[in-house]
Amino acid sequence: MAGILDGKRILVAGVTMDSSIGFATAKFAQEQGATVLISNFGRALGITRRIAKRLPSEPPVLELDVTDPEHLEGLEAQVREHVDGLDGVVHSIAFGNPETLLGGKFLTGPWDDVAQAVQVSAFSLKSLAMATKPLLGAGSSIVGLTFDASVAWPAYDWMGVAKAGLESTSRYLARDLGADGIRVNLVSAGPLKTLAAKAIPGFEDLEELWTTRAPLGWDNKDHEPTAKAVCALLSDLFPATSGEIVHVDGGFHAMGA
Ligand code: NAP
Repeated sequence: MAGILDGKRILVAGVTMDSSIGFATAKFAQEQGATVLISNFGRALGITRRIAKRLPSEPPVLELDVTDPEHLEGLEAQVREHVDGLDGVVHSIAFGNPETLLGGKFLTGPWDDVAQAVQVSAFSLKSLAMATKPLLGAGSSIVGLTFDASVAWPAYDWMGVAKAGLESTSRYLARDLGADGIRVNLVSAGPLKTLAAKAIPGFEDLEELWTTRAPLGWDNKDHEPTAKAVCALLSDLFPATSGEIVHVDGGFHAMGA
């Protein structure tokens, strides 16, 4: 059977463990026929290289710190060592210092740490889009991951503000890249057990809310629904959708209580 990503070349940025949403996305993308490249940065790169072997087909692992101008400048050449262009880019990246910014630290979070969170988690969508733009043709798709930033959550604190920035960044990118035929969308996932989630003090209280309120129910260990939505947005199945946020949260966002 033909896959929805047959023949597509996809970069998934932000894969550390096999618990990463990026890993589930890379896996489903490969199962749907894509040629996948993955990236990560710094000390975890060695882990990513080992984890890459667990994918159906071992992808090239690129080094990309989204805050490093040299990495961003060199990304096109790194990608071209493996493929001659890209049809899709996944931004699965976020960071906020859990000790100073999250878990009830909203009123005391220092600016330097907030600036870092916003740069890594929001501004970097623009950085990644511009770094890969020379590789992207008409019909290509950029997809990022958010945690619904239209409301305030317990524990999420400055990461919520960074996600609001990401959501807005995605709309402005949709505006400015539309003329090149590049779509930009986000998937708003419910809480999933990943390294990033475990680092947030009190995140389990949020997870608890999902067990009672999501009308479809919610399995925080099942990353596949989120990965499938990302891949659907990468595919040709959403040719006229840009600046959108697709919720993959068991329907939680639509409930008042
Ligand atoms: P994850 O496995 O920890 O993935 C986050 C990735 O961001 C890691 O690979 C991390 O690398 C990378 N990263 C951090 N700083 C970076 C930098 N400067 N340059 C490049 N990469 C950097 O956690 P995840 O939950 O899958 O997160 C993926 C995305 O989904 C994030 O945007 C997250 O906010 C979003 N999301 C998660 C949930 C959830 O409940 N888990 C819900 C909704 C949305 P290191 O591991 O090396 O630091």
